[in-house]
Amino acid sequence: MAVSDHVDLPTFMEGVKKRNPYQPEFVQAVQEVAEDIFEFMQDKEEYHSQQILRRIAEPDRVVSFRVCWEDDNGNIRVQRGWRVQNNNAIGPYKGGIRFHPSVTESVLKFLAFEQTFKNALTGLPMGGGKGGSNFNPKGKSVREIMRFCQSFMTELYRHIGADIDVPAGDIGVGGREIGFMFGQYKRITNNFTGVLTGKGLEWGGSLIRTEATGYGAVYFLANMLATKSEDLTGKTAVISGSGNVATHAAEKIVQLGGKVLTLSDSGGYIHDPDGIDQEKIDWVKTHKTHRRGRIEEYVTAFPKATFVAGKTPWGVPCDVALPCATQNELLGDDARMLIANGCKAVAEGANMPTDLDGVHVFKAAKILYAPGKASNAGGVAVSGLEMSQNSERRSWKEEELQQMLKDIMSGIHKSCLAYGDQGGGYIDYVKGANIAGFKKVADAMLAFGVV
Ligand code: NDP
Repeated sequence: MAVSDHVDLPTFMEGVKKRNPYQPEFVQAVQEVAEDIFEFMQDKEEYHSQQILRRIAEPDRVVSFRVCWEDDNGNIRVQRGWRVQNNNAIGPYKGGIRFHPSVTESVLKFLAFEQTFKNALTGLPMGGGKGGSNFNPKGKSVREIMRFCQSFMTELYRHIGADIDVPAGDIGVGGREIGFMFGQYKRITNNFTGVLTGKGLEWGGSLIRTEATGYGAVYFLANMLATKSEDLTGKTAVISGSGNVATHAAEKIVQLGGKVLTLSDSGGYIHDPDGIDQEKIDWVKTHKTHRRGRIEEYVTAFPKATFVAGKTPWGVPCDVALPCATQNELLGDDARMLIANGCKAVAEGANMPTDLDGVHVFKAAKILYAPGKASNAGGVAVSGLEMSQNSERRSWKEEELQQMLKDIMSGIHKSCLAYGDQGGGYIDYVKGANIAGFKKVADAMLAFGVV
């Protein structure tokens, strides 16, 4: 008879490191989850003996492929593409596609691992996946981007499907890129199906999908503040990023009566002491999305603002902070600075923007701190609703979807409370999200036996 293998956390993490050399982001993501799950599993023999966490931390498969395309000068360019299908215990794989030069297998494995828990938290039937390429869309013409997307899909199409794996957008992949990829999928397969989300409204997309991640993060933040009988009225917010998530988070903060002080991109951040109102947010959206501009040009349009090159905005005093750009953009010292300056709440719009040191600082200070897998789940939640609408061949109204998004974010908040309430008014949202997400996936895996 097999003897169940009760390794402790350090031994488990040693194994993860050994099996995934040169994959620091993936190891970091597993570590953050394992810290909570090992505590939770202490008295749960079945999860141990069935090696559930070990199995979730081993992707079902990682597909890696060559993507060749021709640039406008006739040069042949070669990129690498991936799809990481992490776990489909509770539904088809689901997760975005990222085009950015920093994309590696490690980054996509961490994102697919996180996505598995996040998708479980939404309450919708979606497994976890993620994909992308080290292609850099910056400076490329629209025709080059189209050719790249078509070439990428020419391989990806054989690994995805409405009931298999449903990708969406992420960094560097918005509505335009989804359109190019959907067009190519349809051309190759002759199949009009809900194989991607984030589609245009005319061809199967859902209302509020574009806004959902940023809006959802702010709804989650409002839920957290409500546990302290507070709301966003009059609160100052520091936000990083100036893409889809950041601009929509800013928009919702303004709608709920808060004042947004900063936005950023990879060049640095802008600080506008007058507040970044709706008109200014609209300017940023047009500037970054349609003109493909840089955030530093904000100060030319709005001269009272300042631009700080090469820095993140965490030194600007604020009541609430929303990191909405990328992974590991908020480090331990940034976390200490935010707390020293009186920041009361942090809601992550990006995936794993806070490094492990920063997470430990927020936890030790017992501030309201939501990990991305809880607070940025609004995007994938509305993607899940897009899948339902595609299956039903109908479109829901904006008010219905807004209400569903709000309800899903409140539901995730409740799940976090169920496992994260530490008493004395402190809620450990990281622990709550990790355990609630894990339990759902783990229980499904137990039902399937050893597969
Ligand atoms: P966008 O491409 O629309 O915007 C990304 C923003 O982050 C840009 O301002 C970009 O600046 C900045 N950024 C990207 N990489 C870096 C970097 N290495 N250093 C500093 N700044 C950087 O992406 P999204 O807004 O869609 O995504 C932002 C984050 O939110 C990501 O972590 C993503 O995984 C997460 N997320 C997105 C969801 C969605 O629905 N879109 C859903 C859930 C999570 P620059 O222009 O200079 O590159």
